[in-house]
Amino acid sequence: MFFQKGKKEAGGDNPQCVCKVLAAKRDTQLAACLLLVVFVSVLAATCWQIWSERQRTLAEIDTNNRNLAQTLNTYAEGVLTQSSMLLLGMLERLEAEGTSPDHLLRMQQLVNRQEHLFNQLNELLVIDARGKWLMSSRGRFPDGANSADRHFFSYHRDNPSHEIFIGAPIRCRSTGEWLLTVSRRFEDRQGHFGGVIVVALGIENFLRLFGKIDVGEQGSIGLATTSGQLLVRYPFREQDLGRDFSRSTNFLRHYSSLKSGTASFESGIDGTERLYAFRSNDRYPVFTAVARGRHEALRAWRHQALLTAGVVLSLLTVIAVIGWRLILLIRLRAQTETALMAAREKLVDANQELGRLAAQDPLTGLANRRRFDETLRLEVRRAAREGTPLSLLLIDLDDFKGFNDRYGHVAGDECLRAVSRQLALSAKRPGDLAARYGGEELAIILPSTAPEGAMRVAEQLLECIRELGIAHEASHFGRVTASIGAASIQGRQGRTEDLVEAADRALYRAKAAGRNRVEC
Ligand code: GH3
Ligand code: MG
Ligand code: MG
Repeated sequence: MFFQKGKKEAGGDNPQCVCKVLAAKRDTQLAACLLLVVFVSVLAATCWQIWSERQRTLAEIDTNNRNLAQTLNTYAEGVLTQSSMLLLGMLERLEAEGTSPDHLLRMQQLVNRQEHLFNQLNELLVIDARGKWLMSSRGRFPDGANSADRHFFSYHRDNPSHEIFIGAPIRCRSTGEWLLTVSRRFEDRQGHFGGVIVVALGIENFLRLFGKIDVGEQGSIGLATTSGQLLVRYPFREQDLGRDFSRSTNFLRHYSSLKSGTASFESGIDGTERLYAFRSNDRYPVFTAVARGRHEALRAWRHQALLTAGVVLSLLTVIAVIGWRLILLIRLRAQTETALMAAREKLVDANQELGRLAAQDPLTGLANRRRFDETLRLEVRRAAREGTPLSLLLIDLDDFKGFNDRYGHVAGDECLRAVSRQLALSAKRPGDLAARYGGEELAIILPSTAPEGAMRVAEQLLECIRELGIAHEASHFGRVTASIGAASIQGRQGRTEDLVEAADRALYRAKAAGRNRVEC
């Protein structure tokens, strides 16, 4: 719109103005392109930087979680190995020495001596084939204490395997503490099911350790069996203990088939989205999982990203404002230049018109006296320089005073114009100049024209004036006529004044000789 306006108002169809308008349009487009490139590049670079920073943060969290899961896994393996060794030692004694009270007492004393080496141990129990307690590492236990209803007992009773069994968390009936059980069956001398030896591990010990690890407010640490039963979880919630998540999608997708790995999903326990790392144990059917709340873990990154985005957007806004002002300035400059150019053009036209008017006689349209003098001076110099002839004709209308008196000045002017047209027609060559010398006196400068040629032009002119047939009752010719004085110079012979004077004298002679003629 601007360009159309600019073109119409100022430039018009001037090719220079059209060029300016096109150049301004091109500059504007270039500036807009540059702005766009800067915008896209800065935005792309910022997005890329923010995205890679996010990936780096996630990778860092994954690594930390994975290391932690591995460490806790080693810890769990140590505790289970210690439990297994204790179970094995006790089992061998039981199978070798039987379950007589004396032997059981010695076993209890032996366990008590080892207790300080095994902090996690809460209690060691020997249970007979009917679930009745035979021995507790704590010494006294309630009469009739029986664990036949516990899952670990029924497992060993019904399963001849000598492998250890890691049971679901149970609550101690006497103290109310939550315990993990690691148990093994033993046989009597006949090879039948003789009972179970159980190592009870205090869950509190695990929680104390897990609590010392910083996993943030939304983080969690868990120990579970590979069959999908939760053994311990930090933060502790009683209802979570023993929870069976073997059928949960998360378990089936992430934990069941892999030895270790990382994943991000919403917890089935509390619905929090977390970044998990898990590690299965090589020797026992358990795995550890360490998780950090996704939202919390990315908090620092989010702050940084918002700050970066804010700074970059502010910068882009500043660039946009400056760019827009630049485009406006380019347009304004083009508009001003176009207007200036149009004004200059008008000025040149006006000057040319002025120059033309300054050199032209307003009545006859011929060259005026000033131009006549200048041209004659130049032609005299040129003739002298080039050694060529130069002729001058001075024409004076005959009895013109009488014409004016008879027909009036308006008719006199019209007559003067008609004669002037003939004069202009007589100046045929490019260098010829027809001029109004003053009043009703006219002149023709004929460069490179010898006297003979000048005489011929003069005679023809006189004939043309006569043929105009303008009635002039005051003249004894009955029509308008003129007298002509012709003069010529050749090469370096004369000066301007001499030429004019010679033509004037010839004109005088023509008048004196009766008018309507040419004298040389
Ligand atoms: P001649 O030249 O034949 O001796 O007689 P003339 O009557 O023409 O005498 P002169 O050349 O001295 O007279 C000049 C006259 O021309 C005077 C004036 O009335 C007239 N004249 C001069 N300039 C103009 C003009 O611009 N318009 C008109 N209408 N008359 C003019
Ligand atoms: Mg005169
Ligand atoms: Mg006259």
